[in-house]
Amino acid sequence: MFDCGDGASLDLSGKLLRLKKIFITHADRDHINGLPQALNMLGSSGPEVFYPPGSGSFAALKRFLDVFDPETCAHATWTAFEPGQKEPLSGDWMVEAFKTQHFLSDDQDRHRSLGYLVSRVVQKLRSDLRGLEQEEIDLIREDQGREAIQTEVIEPYYIVSGDTVPLSTEQIGATPYLVHECTFLDGTPGGRMGDHSVLPNLLDSVMQAPLKKLLLYHISQRFDPEAGRASINEECRQRGIRFPVAAVFAGETVDDGFAQTVYEP
Ligand SMILES: [Zn+2]
Repeated sequence: MFDCGDGASLDLSGKLLRLKKIFITHADRDHINGLPQALNMLGSSGPEVFYPPGSGSFAALKRFLDVFDPETCAHATWTAFEPGQKEPLSGDWMVEAFKTQHFLSDDQDRHRSLGYLVSRVVQKLRSDLRGLEQEEIDLIREDQGREAIQTEVIEPYYIVSGDTVPLSTEQIGATPYLVHECTFLDGTPGGRMGDHSVLPNLLDSVMQAPLKKLLLYHISQRFDPEAGRASINEECRQRGIRFPVAAVFAGETVDDGFAQTVYEP
């Protein structure tokens, strides 16, 4: 799970009990308020919490929960997760943290906010063997083992931005699916908005990335969903955005955010 805000345990109900790892993007209340309840419900299953290493809030929260709920929350493991650090998930999946810009005053070495990239580790046929006939490849495998014909490839699948100014095309790389915060649908960045994304700037920043779909979340509750969908559609159309865009508004609970399409190219 990425972040654990108010109502996370209520919204997930039974599914929450299968959770093993919780990756937190930063220590703002709307991203961590659900932790005491979630860790209490997960109890002795020993969930793992990963958090930005530059934030002092998590050590304080852990200290409090260890005393407040020694029978349950105290079983959780807390890990300061560095940008670039990787953590395996079930199956072939893994998570990698990267630095985001949410606290603009942070210097280069202080990481108080993180985004997360989910990738799949796949075994592929070595590129120098691609021209060979199947029988020749089979012979090499029988002779030298599977390792001789395969190479490990990490395929990026989706990014969760957390709260940040817009990610760049370079940060997105070849990742096909992007879950990006879009706190403001209009307005100019600066002042309070400086550490969040504003729709027009976000679209300008990501429109050249080779995305298959963009999902906007963390939209401020000041924006009405119906009017909001219309303005997202309009901003995308004006720019000729080449990938579909979905959005989840404040207060909405959905099974599949990517299915909440508001714009099709
Ligand atoms: Zn937030």
